[in-house]
Amino acid sequence: MPRIAYVNGRYTAHADAAVHIEDRGYQFADGVYEVCEIARGYIVDSTRHLDRLDRSLRELKIASPMARQPLLTVMREVIRRNLVENGLVYLQVTRGVAPRDHAFPADTKPSLVITAKRIDPLGGIKRAESGIKVITVAENRWERVDIKSVGLLPNVLAKQQAKEAGAQEAWFVDPDGTVKEGASTNAWIITKDGVLVTRPADTGILRGVTRTTVLDIIKKHGLSIEERPFTVEEAYDAREAFITSATTLVTPVVTIDDRSIANGHPGSIASSLRQAFFDIAEKIKA
Ligand code: PLP
Repeated sequence: MPRIAYVNGRYTAHADAAVHIEDRGYQFADGVYEVCEIARGYIVDSTRHLDRLDRSLRELKIASPMARQPLLTVMREVIRRNLVENGLVYLQVTRGVAPRDHAFPADTKPSLVITAKRIDPLGGIKRAESGIKVITVAENRWERVDIKSVGLLPNVLAKQQAKEAGAQEAWFVDPDGTVKEGASTNAWIITKDGVLVTRPADTGILRGVTRTTVLDIIKKHGLSIEERPFTVEEAYDAREAFITSATTLVTPVVTIDDRSIANGHPGSIASSLRQAFFDIAEKIKA
């Protein structure tokens, strides 16, 4: 069955879907994106994802391409046309097409692309059962990583470095030795005293939607949580470590820079947070 993409008002064959060469996303990475998980026929945490999309657009002064309800209708239609029960729906909004000039063009319509893809949930389950490897890399991104911008070159390079090192994620580390976040995930540890630790989302990281929903689970279960920066040394010494994102949910980390975390097996708290996630997260029928 051919995949279908939505591009600026049209449903087209994914293989032929294209944007103009002067789209500002292509020319300047002048755009933002969102990714929602689709699980068991539901779109997960759509309100938080679309709220963050609105925020990213506002921060960059890009007009909203569509109101929330029609946007959800298009998302559902793309999901339906691609027969996705489990997978991802991806939205990208750029400032639109205009003659190449750095400053904002006047009266340009934003571009909107929506795609959906099927993913076998077994892959994620297997990765969660074995745990993943992480490497640390020096932070080299701009300061506004709280905006979910399509300007992801440092993230791409970090992920490639991880892949070449036989790892699945790279954690950006500030000059003071504290961990920021992964190339496409948020970073967490659990200390020897059983305290969950993750960096505050006010500056320096993307406020992950999965992170926020995991915080809901932690509060509901009365677990100890500290939102503060943690160092790489603390992470090496942790009882557990894990990552969160819409694409990985909660996935345990068993190795950081080739050092085993605790006994080198996925931790029980990370595994139970993963189990609890679907029930607690917001779900709307796809
Ligand atoms: N941090 C970065 C840099 C990301 O790119 C992502 C997701 O793409 C996340 C964190 C996790 O965010 P979410 O849980 O909303 O998927």
